[in-house]
Amino acid sequence: MMDLMDPMGGDDTATAVLLGLDSVRAGLEDFYRDLHAHPELSHEEHRTAGNVAARLRDAGCDVHEGVGGSGVVGVLRNGDGPTVLLRADMDALPVQEATGLPYASRAVAADGSPVMHACGHDVHVTCLLGAVALMAQASDRWSGTLVALFQPAEETADGARGMLDDGLPGIIDGLGGIDVALAQHVLPMPAGTVGTRSGPTLSAADSMRITVHGRGAHGSMPQAAVDPVVLAAMIVVRLQTVVAREVAPGDTAVLTVGSIQAGTKSNVIPDHAVLQLNVRTYDEQTRSAVLGAIERIVRAECAASGSPQDPDFELFDRYPLTDNDADVTARVGSAFRAFFGDRAGELPQQSASEDFSDLPTALGAPYTYWGIGGTDPETYRAAQKAGRVAQDIPVNHSAGFAPVLQPTLDTGTQALVVAALAWLGG
Ligand SMILES: [Zn+2]
Ligand SMILES: [Zn+2]
Repeated sequence: MMDLMDPMGGDDTATAVLLGLDSVRAGLEDFYRDLHAHPELSHEEHRTAGNVAARLRDAGCDVHEGVGGSGVVGVLRNGDGPTVLLRADMDALPVQEATGLPYASRAVAADGSPVMHACGHDVHVTCLLGAVALMAQASDRWSGTLVALFQPAEETADGARGMLDDGLPGIIDGLGGIDVALAQHVLPMPAGTVGTRSGPTLSAADSMRITVHGRGAHGSMPQAAVDPVVLAAMIVVRLQTVVAREVAPGDTAVLTVGSIQAGTKSNVIPDHAVLQLNVRTYDEQTRSAVLGAIERIVRAECAASGSPQDPDFELFDRYPLTDNDADVTARVGSAFRAFFGDRAGELPQQSASEDFSDLPTALGAPYTYWGIGGTDPETYRAAQKAGRVAQDIPVNHSAGFAPVLQPTLDTGTQALVVAALAWLGG
């Protein structure tokens, strides 16, 4: 790893702290394989949280457990200086693993669903524990306070808010607030690379369940009915005009009706229909315009059909926009370029969503969120050459998503240390 440790980049502090990586690497790899084999669904991350808390205590952190369910906060105080929050999410997904890895998950949840770390949150947890261990070992190289936050339930969009509603603000107030919040995600990019982006980086997401009401009747007597099937169909078609006709060409939005359900039998007109839809946007103005247009269209179609009752709207799985602070991103980006050289680049805008930004938004701190690669670089290059990246490289949430152990874990650990030291390194 001498090429990575070369102080040519100029960041001597990061280089010195990361010299410790050789002594913790094998332990981190073992931890990762165990965590990958024992994934837990959102809100059920108890085994993971217990192992995390034990490691944080070993590193000398003050540890707060059970914050918002299974959330864990480790605080490493090391004299005067800024306070930096690093966040990792811990939950897995109900996916049947098909990676063929020797440490593949065979876990089954209480409800019988298979469980897999298909989003790579096991990478995030392992790298953050690695960063804490290295910072603790090299406490003479930096000063300030490091907060390592392990969040449950990212995949259900409510883990960050759960921690905020259950004592996290008090813990942070006790430290005098935080100066910056940082987080990362492993993505289908070449392992060993890191990517930063300023401004809107991950989309805001909103899911909506809409129930429209009709009047049920015999299928042979439509005159006695208000048919919610026809009403729902008109809504689906009319909703296609929102992005096409109401969103400016330079703005981006996605509106997908993913589910539509009504009725039980061919000759019964049902009395209601339920639509579920998902919206992705990259700014608050577009977001509220799209959500407003949906409600307007649904109410108008109900009126046009003579619906006997107002429609019901229920928003769920709501993710905030991830809008990276320009100054924070510039600082992290230049630290990355100094350390990683040409392995540091720009992250393309992602249509995925995250609830991380709920934390810094509520705690009053600027933030940035970056990507690290997890795909074998040779495999990636071959797919790129063949023009088959989308087809051949398994993406997050797929049953074949299998980040290569190295250099993924090294890079994720290095990225967290390098970024934190951009504030704590003096
Ligand atoms: Zn995910
Ligand atoms: Zn994820």
